[in-house]
Amino acid sequence: MGFQIAIDGPAASGKSTIARLLAERLGFEHLNTGATYRAAAVYLKEKGLNPSSPREELERALRSMSIDYRDGKVLVNGEDYTERIQSPEVGILASDFAKLEVVRYYLIRIQREICDDKNVVVEGRDIGTVVLPNAQLKIFLTASLEVRVERKLMEYQKRGLNVSREEVEKELISRDKQDSKRSVSPLKPAEDAVVIDTTNMSVNEVLQKILELVEERIRS
Ligand code: C5P
Repeated sequence: MGFQIAIDGPAASGKSTIARLLAERLGFEHLNTGATYRAAAVYLKEKGLNPSSPREELERALRSMSIDYRDGKVLVNGEDYTERIQSPEVGILASDFAKLEVVRYYLIRIQREICDDKNVVVEGRDIGTVVLPNAQLKIFLTASLEVRVERKLMEYQKRGLNVSREEVEKELISRDKQDSKRSVSPLKPAEDAVVIDTTNMSVNEVLQKILELVEERIRS
């Protein structure tokens, strides 16, 4: 088995930045499971489905869907979906579909296959609790809503998306509430996760702290 690092936490808590840098530093692979939920949501929508569609129809579409994650890009049946999954609307749609057991069933299978036997940093909402319960290191990142709104706003601006602060705040509040309250795989820290509040920490400080924890786990 490879060395697996699970990073969970609410929207815009810094997971993607940290997971990417950590993977780079350690020479590990990186999987952003949020991107797989976003890509699946867009794919299902393109098939004319929505979260209230009959289970059998959703299942048929999910069975015909393969997802690859390579170099930060997400491919659905070989097609690059990376650009079309970044908007706040897709974030909300992904959260709506992610409540469904049938969607999670297929995505968790895909995610485990991608991670199989690899040294990997995996980020999401249920990695330490459900996807990789035996991960050698589990981190739960948090940050105040204010800081998370600021980070997400900057991310949208960098991507050239024109979104107001109010819209970002509404998006984060609504997704976090839905992700934490759902009955299947809700967002919560694993019992053995190390919780890091990044509100007043720089990216480098968070990275150093996690690297120390990796060292400790490798030594023990
Ligand atoms: O990480 P990101 O914000 O891109 O995730 C989009 C949505 O996908 C989340 O709001 C959540 O509903 C869902 N998700 C999930 N489980 C994961 C990763 C993401 O339910 N492991």
